[in-house]
Amino acid sequence: MMEHHAKQGRRADPFEWSGGHPALDLVNTLDERPSPSPIENLATYPDLVRFAVLAGLIDRRTAAGLQRLDGRSGPLVATRARKLREHLHDVVAAANSRRPARQSDLDALSAAIQAAHVARTLVVASPSPGLVNRRWSPALSPEIPLHACSLAIECLLVDEPRKRIRKCGATDCDVYYLDTSKGQRRQWCSMKGCGNREKQRRWRCATR
Ligand SMILES: [Zn+2]
Repeated sequence: MMEHHAKQGRRADPFEWSGGHPALDLVNTLDERPSPSPIENLATYPDLVRFAVLAGLIDRRTAAGLQRLDGRSGPLVATRARKLREHLHDVVAAANSRRPARQSDLDALSAAIQAAHVARTLVVASPSPGLVNRRWSPALSPEIPLHACSLAIECLLVDEPRKRIRKCGATDCDVYYLDTSKGQRRQWCSMKGCGNREKQRRWRCATR
């Protein structure tokens, strides 16, 4: 969305949540992509942890623990998360323009997804409907938010029908979203923002 105000400053939730899937919300953490100076919402490791918890990818207790880590490896993990995001962006952007995905992007995503699975372990479940639960192992590694993003990416790419992964129809907006509307006719990242703006634009065109 282009119509964000007061992006500067530490707002509690600077993220764009119209993606309808955490992996697409991740893509959209680089806001205002088509502009020459997009807004980086994953600039720091605490940003990454905040995104992961607000996206429901990690629980609040884990997030609080991660925010208290000494932070030495944080900047590197945040850099890896931004790279991961751009590989995913390139894959969905390719699909959007009906090009095949680059193998190098898929290889990078595969490596991240494999590492994420290695960091999961099974433990006895209680209370839970299943026999066992999955836990992070180790329980508090700085890479957890990165791994959680990788697992969400795997779900998006493998489980979601490709036709549903769409880019906003506004000319100046590169927000991606999962179209779960009836008949899959959603055109905008948000009706309030891009939808309205584009309608006004068309109306102005029509009266000229
Ligand atoms: Zn939009």
